[in-house]
Amino acid sequence: MASAWSVCGIMKNFLIVLTLSALSLMGCNKNSTSGFSTKIGIVLDGSVPEDQRDLIDLDLSNLSRLNLSVSSSDLQVLNVNSFSGSDLVGWLTTRVHFIVGEDFDYAEQASIVGTLSYRPQIFSSTLLDDDFLAQNSLVTIMVNIGSALYRYGKNNSEVLTLDVGGQRIYVRSPRVGVIQIGEGLFSSWSVRGTSSNTLANSLIRLSVFFHEARHSDGNGDNVTFPHAVCPDWHDYGGNYSCDSSSNGPYVVDSIMLRNLRSACVGCSNTEIQTFKAFQADAESRLLPGSTYKDIRPEQIP
Ligand SMILES: [Zn+2]
Repeated sequence: MASAWSVCGIMKNFLIVLTLSALSLMGCNKNSTSGFSTKIGIVLDGSVPEDQRDLIDLDLSNLSRLNLSVSSSDLQVLNVNSFSGSDLVGWLTTRVHFIVGEDFDYAEQASIVGTLSYRPQIFSSTLLDDDFLAQNSLVTIMVNIGSALYRYGKNNSEVLTLDVGGQRIYVRSPRVGVIQIGEGLFSSWSVRGTSSNTLANSLIRLSVFFHEARHSDGNGDNVTFPHAVCPDWHDYGGNYSCDSSSNGPYVVDSIMLRNLRSACVGCSNTEIQTFKAFQADAESRLLPGSTYKDIRPEQIP
């Protein structure tokens, strides 16, 4: 793909911003944001515009109706018994609890409520990975802000809360599960020239939710499955847009795109080709020598 977009390209700046804004977090004014509960239980924060809320509700309804026949290796990556709607909903709702809009201000809604010597229950220590890098040339599709806040708290030995969807949640695990809509979700990440409410675009969006959900997993150095820097020879050379995990977010992306394509019944050739192009892009992000990583999420007791 010649065009450049990144599912979570802005994360490093995000973390830098969090660091800079830490002192202003305590005691800032809060506006309660009401939530909309979807049929599968994921809450859409009041910052999600109504038209986008309807589309995401459609996407999640489509997810619950899926029944895909997939390979055993695909089942292994997601660690599910099947790609039935109920199994996929279960997988996603374990990792994503809230979706917030592009305008959601995490700095305003987050609070530091105490200090803690972070001693998460860690299962293993794997490779050193880095955070996600901001690239102005890349378009953000979605960001898992819950896992970013978890990393921030862990790095600073602070306990954070976040007000989201009319609730206050404690950030004690990468599975806090708050993902934010990026500017490209309803534009770049779709079939060019088609409406946002087509079946093809709905299924393509679902692949992003699954990518973000994988960022709610992991422990130790690999907590949140951060992306790796792409080598110089790569289309995304120098950007944190690759994975060194063969069960990481981009592999999840490519698996979902390949299988969701088969659910795109009656879709046009252009739509099918878009699935394939996005899948090829995701597959290109997997670095040579990638290995399976432990998905078990660490947790602050
Ligand atoms: Zn990502």
